[in-house]
Amino acid sequence: MKKHTQCVHSGTYKEGKTKGVNTPIFTSSSFEYPDAEENVYPRYFNTVNQRAVAAKLAALENTEDGLLFSSGMAAISTVLLTFLKQGDHALFQRDVYGGTYHFVRSEFQQYGIDFTFVTNKAGDIERAIRKNTKVIFIESPSNPLLKITDISAVADMAHSRNIITVIDNTFATPINQNPHDSGIDMIIHSGSKYLGGHSDICCGAALGGTAMINAVMKTAVNFGGSLNAATCYLVERSLKTLGIRIERQCANAEFIAGSLKNNPLISKVYYPGLPDHDGHELAKKQMQAFGAVVSFELDERKYDPDTFIDNLKLISPALSLGGVETLICAPASTSHEKMSEEERLSIGITKGLFRLSVGVEDADDIMKDIEQALS
Ligand SMILES: *Cc1c(COP(=O)(O)O)cnc(C)c1O
Repeated sequence: MKKHTQCVHSGTYKEGKTKGVNTPIFTSSSFEYPDAEENVYPRYFNTVNQRAVAAKLAALENTEDGLLFSSGMAAISTVLLTFLKQGDHALFQRDVYGGTYHFVRSEFQQYGIDFTFVTNKAGDIERAIRKNTKVIFIESPSNPLLKITDISAVADMAHSRNIITVIDNTFATPINQNPHDSGIDMIIHSGSKYLGGHSDICCGAALGGTAMINAVMKTAVNFGGSLNAATCYLVERSLKTLGIRIERQCANAEFIAGSLKNNPLISKVYYPGLPDHDGHELAKKQMQAFGAVVSFELDERKYDPDTFIDNLKLISPALSLGGVETLICAPASTSHEKMSEEERLSIGITKGLFRLSVGVEDADDIMKDIEQALS
């Protein structure tokens, strides 16, 4: 099956009595054991609703299996602490999601796990590998500058050394990029973004081969970050339209990136679909479409970023991303607020930088709102 068909059909549990076409919501947390093949319990990640969503996502990512979590960070922390032990070393791309960065910085030391943050260049990652490196963690496209990491190059350098590779595939979605096909071991999603897609769900997922997913499940049962049945159902329902939402959002984003590029009031546009983006050639090679986030910069000496935000009428200034509505945020005063100004500027995050999460509205209306706020 291809993507749109998988979105609709994969993983659905057909209930025998009513023959309803949708997976029912099974509310039980207690299940009779005498004739059961395994003990079923929500924290064991094995209820019908959890499995249905995990199976759909595994089909979409072309992996053997998957686990659904209560948040993206539950997936990230559980996967990392499954494969990393005292004395191990892990390599991270420097511009990973802020929550991942803080998790590593604040928790790893107490477990005796060593770590290095490097650029997203394959050569720099390879040079930072040590004898005890067990995990390489990348994110592509990254937040908020949409840097593109060479997925195949990272998978190749890791395989020959028995290092486990993990990618945060949230920004790409399984519609645009399937890193397991290029040899990445574990795929992680914050389902709170595009998978949920309506800004009303917090969840996460980890997808990979059976052996690795079984290993992650053993740890996950102890950490307990599983998802409840009602939310599982909402995710399953959302995933049915993932393909058409992403197609529309990416087409809108391409249009907006092009329009912003031609606007003299905008000093920089970051979008992997633009030929002058650093990662454009790589993105063409490893992505189906270029994603639905566009970042851009106002010349902050000429325009006050706060006034611009205040003047928007349709687009809400809000945290998070990936929903059907277009949202905007200024990383300097949100996700990267805790960084010193010097550190912030060193990674290209100015006060005038905005991250636009493009929704499914009419692209003209989104662009008009930006233009009227600028003028
Ligand atoms: C939001 C996000 C996360 C964290 O997900 P939560 O569901 O908020 O825990 C991880 N990675 C990326 C790229 C994200 O955007």
